Amino acid sequence: MSTQEHSQKAGFETLAIHAGHEPDPMTGAVIPPIYATSTYKQDGVGGLRGGYEYSRSANPTRTALEGAMAALEDGERGFAFASGLAAEDTLVRALCRPGDHVVIPDDAYGGTYRLFDKVEKAWGLEHSPAAVSDVDAVRAAIRPGETKLVWIETPTNPLLNIADLEKLAAVVHEAGALLVVDNTFASPYLQQPITLGADIVVHSTTKYVGGHSDVVGGALVVRGLDVAEKIEFHQNSMGAVAGPFDAVLTHRGLKTLGVRMDRHCDNAEKIVEFLSTHARVCEVIYPGLEQHPGHAVAARQMKRFGGIVSFRVVGGEQAALDVCAAAEVFTLGESLGGVESLIEHPGRMTHASVAGTELEVPADLIRLSVGIETAEDLIADLDRALG
Ligand SMILES: *Cc1c(COP(=O)(O)O)cnc(C)c1O
Repeated sequence: MSTQEHSQKAGFETLAIHAGHEPDPMTGAVIPPIYATSTYKQDGVGGLRGGYEYSRSANPTRTALEGAMAALEDGERGFAFASGLAAEDTLVRALCRPGDHVVIPDDAYGGTYRLFDKVEKAWGLEHSPAAVSDVDAVRAAIRPGETKLVWIETPTNPLLNIADLEKLAAVVHEAGALLVVDNTFASPYLQQPITLGADIVVHSTTKYVGGHSDVVGGALVVRGLDVAEKIEFHQNSMGAVAGPFDAVLTHRGLKTLGVRMDRHCDNAEKIVEFLSTHARVCEVIYPGLEQHPGHAVAARQMKRFGGIVSFRVVGGEQAALDVCAAAEVFTLGESLGGVESLIEHPGRMTHASVAGTELEVPADLIRLSVGIETAEDLIADLDRALG
């Protein structure tokens, strides 16, 4: 079954399992082989079998993943990269030029902020941070004629702010710019930005898409063919592609995204309920909570509210560090979106690079990436760690 035939009618899990590939025509293998090859025999000069000539340009194992990502995000084309940041850099070089301007979230993923602030800026690309949950703030940050991209995360990391993608798409398009959405936190199972008006979706497939903390990767999915052509040219010209071994691992993870995401959400909801009444917790941040300022928008544009929970503890930074150190089922570590639960201190870990900037996060903040273990074990672990 081809992606095209099914993108209109098949359900998410059906697409996740079947889109992007057919059983292997030679052997009937239901999973695409790992094409560990750099080059392809030509039948006469220029006589390509299936369009493949060199694996930086295209490789069938990567093509299968790219087709599946495009189907799940409801985009025209997908592209797989060596990491999320490689995808981001390729996107920026494809669509911006020195002297252009981009708007980025004022609580962007730390690596994204560093990319814009230390790498793209030195190339001549200006950037302005804006609060993505405030449409007027984003509008005010746009420089008419200069702003090429408005870069949005929703939910943001680690404060889980919510951006209204439909409203932002209207504002961004009116200004002649493109709306880019980093959909890493929600995954296409919970939110499909292109259906809400976004032009390009960015993923760190390292996180929920891969889902097993065993591979680093990135992806772009684009709505329009003109943008797709530019991305394709830059993917090949810059060369930061996903290799076939990484592509097959990522694609394997992608097939179970729906069932994993539902369990991530179930467990996160139970943990939120537990933390909300704990005496040592002064604030729980989760878009599923009615008092969360983005709750109504999240309820409209997301299927559920995700597996990331942030909370602040009584007693300041040291208390937060102590809780992180005391957890046992929750592993102390960076990253997110894997089957195992992780705990981290953003101020000292994932967001250390934004200390002292406008993106600094509270010192008493803890971020959980809630895994798919038995919920009671996760709650007992947090109860113990909170003391
Ligand atoms: C991890 C992450 C990235 C960067 O992806 P890598 O695969 O680590 O390069 C980008 N955006 C978000 C939201 C992330 O969580």
